Amino acid sequence: MRRTFVPLFAAFVVATSLHALVLEGQAVPANAPYKDASLSADRRVTDLLSRMTVEEKAAMLSGSGWMESAPIERLGIPAIKMADGPMGVRSWIGSSAITSAANAPVKVLTTSFPSGVAMAATWDTELVQREGQAIGQEVKALGRDMILGPTVNINRVPLWGRNFEGYGEDPYLAGRLGVAYVKGVQGEGVIPSVKHFAANNEDFERHRIDEQIDERTLHEIYLPAFKAAVQEADAWTVMSAYNKVNGVHCGESVPLLTEILKKEFGFKGFVVSDWGSTYSTAGTVNAGMDLEMPGGPPMLAWMTNPRMQSAGSGAGWLTADKVLAEEKAGHISEATLNDNVSRILRVIFESGLFDHPHPGGGEVDTPAQRAVARQGATEGIVLLKNAGALLPLDAKKIHSIAMIGPNAAVARTGGGGSSLVRPKYAIAPLDGIREALGEGVDVKSALGVGIDGEDPAQDTAEARAKSLKEATDLAAHSDVAVVVVGRYPKLESEGSDVKTMDLPAGQDELIAAVEQANPHTIVVLNTGDPVTMTKWIDNTPALLELWYGGQEGGHALASVLFGDANPSGKLPVSFPKRFEDSPAYGHYPGENLKVDYAEGIYVGYRYFDTKNVKPLFPFGFGLSYTSFEYSGLKVTPGNAPAKEPATVSLKVKNTGARDGAEVVQVYVHDGHSKIDRPVHELKGFQRVELKAGEERTVEFKLDRAAFSYWSPDKKDWVAEPGTFEIQVGASSRDIRLRAPLKLAQ
Ligand code: BGC
Repeated sequence: MRRTFVPLFAAFVVATSLHALVLEGQAVPANAPYKDASLSADRRVTDLLSRMTVEEKAAMLSGSGWMESAPIERLGIPAIKMADGPMGVRSWIGSSAITSAANAPVKVLTTSFPSGVAMAATWDTELVQREGQAIGQEVKALGRDMILGPTVNINRVPLWGRNFEGYGEDPYLAGRLGVAYVKGVQGEGVIPSVKHFAANNEDFERHRIDEQIDERTLHEIYLPAFKAAVQEADAWTVMSAYNKVNGVHCGESVPLLTEILKKEFGFKGFVVSDWGSTYSTAGTVNAGMDLEMPGGPPMLAWMTNPRMQSAGSGAGWLTADKVLAEEKAGHISEATLNDNVSRILRVIFESGLFDHPHPGGGEVDTPAQRAVARQGATEGIVLLKNAGALLPLDAKKIHSIAMIGPNAAVARTGGGGSSLVRPKYAIAPLDGIREALGEGVDVKSALGVGIDGEDPAQDTAEARAKSLKEATDLAAHSDVAVVVVGRYPKLESEGSDVKTMDLPAGQDELIAAVEQANPHTIVVLNTGDPVTMTKWIDNTPALLELWYGGQEGGHALASVLFGDANPSGKLPVSFPKRFEDSPAYGHYPGENLKVDYAEGIYVGYRYFDTKNVKPLFPFGFGLSYTSFEYSGLKVTPGNAPAKEPATVSLKVKNTGARDGAEVVQVYVHDGHSKIDRPVHELKGFQRVELKAGEERTVEFKLDRAAFSYWSPDKKDWVAEPGTFEIQVGASSRDIRLRAPLKLAQ
């Protein structure tokens, strides 16, 4: 056996090398089919692939730089030039540590859009699509081809350092917004990357943490947003996650990448690794990883960086030499290599990158792009409390405003890490309010308390006492006090989790003291996740969640405070009263680098509403300056044939005196299920703009998916025939209308 194998293998090597030499030596005809833009992407891929040597194929599996894939010049295959997102385009020159530094070597100044969670709070799919489009335009204008977003990971626990990037706790909402973002980006011929596949829900030991998640929970909670982006928007790329799921790193998970993403979801694009998340060559390639990033010299520097090594980062496994060696050893088949390369090529053709490279030199941060950022920031603000209708403020009656808190005079546009964009300008709450009020009103500011660790000079007992006194004195002598509290990018960032759900030190005391000094106090939260409010909420007349509002956050806040915009944002995440009430409490961050997702499908409101735990503010909640009435719910047909979608329609009326938008939510309750199911699940929503007094009929389609659960036995979605209840409401706990729907066999 051995004796025959060696000469055969030698003959194979000689033959392949000859083939390679022949191919390499061949001039590519100008009329080669792959160069013909009128042919289908698949036809072009087949032709181009047949002209590639195995060495060239292997070379395409790892990047050539920090943010560039490998070009093959002989064949005119361009590098895909990437940039981080998702909340705008950021510098592609190096890691966050380099590009976020104040003295960053290259500054790329672009539009800073609101954080993902702020965009989720708009529930406005059309707007998120326009955001994707605007970002796509900026990517092209800068001569790049790909944006690393959207982030569609679910907010499982209030302390995840990246909750601000994602679209909240509900898979349906995250899916709708992910689809919208991808469509917007791809519509511009720019490549998005839906990230991080899968279940990147904590940044504690993100390279090593091993999440134990059952199959049903994966399918019902952590995968649907990816599935929607793949199946409904034909997303061109998906980025794998750093963490392990059920014992295996996501980057080399056969169940996740091959079985689920590529086979079950039918994903046709390519999988790109998260930066530094590969740990093997054949295992990773065979699991379905198509492109390892970063590559080239930056990857070498990365591999040898002690900080990265101690964090558990992995890189440099899919370099051409390693892939070729494994291919020659028979551990990677040429068919697999062909599949990897075909996927990358297909995206290069489909996106138009091959035929129309992006030369750069275009304009960014245009008035139209700014307008999208402003609209997002405004629509995303959630009014959580408004006792005695303190808001909106009447600008004509106010003579003085105290702007207090560590986030009042500084624009906190986003959380930290690879998503933090550098804008040309950023409007802080203080700027926005001054601009809105003009000269006549006295708008003064006081720090009140510095944020932990930001400025050591503010961190002494003396400095704190002085700051607090200045703030309360100012509040006492002003008509209104606006206290803007929260975190900043170092406390809420990729790479680590938030230490506590409490506001940073001294902020609770600041709010309580200002409320004592001035009964007209408005608290504004500038955070990416819920915070504990027990120490002051009962005395707070008005409360707004601004999230991280991007560069236009301050303008947006002013519009809402003075009633130029009606607040219409709704929470995309439940706000527990305290961390101990949240479903993952006790199962986070895990022990010995293992975390058990023991709460299973009971994430967010699925837990609070089913187990009757009262949150401070429920999922889907948000007040308004006007009021809405829901009526006339109709579900047709009441006896729905299993294969046809049912129509849910109702009337919504703006019964108040102001124009405004309402986010109407449709939940499905399964009262007859054979298996344990949440009391209800979101299956439809619409943001409806209504003039004062206007009434409109809104309509939803509910297909079979709306009634289904994932059956681990059948390995499929199951909709059990029987009677469901359709619930329509203004939050998960404010169901206004109900109607039965009988699903036929
Ligand atoms: C992040 C990704 C990001 C990548 C490139 C990683 O650390 O997890 O979201 O796109 O870096 O900067």
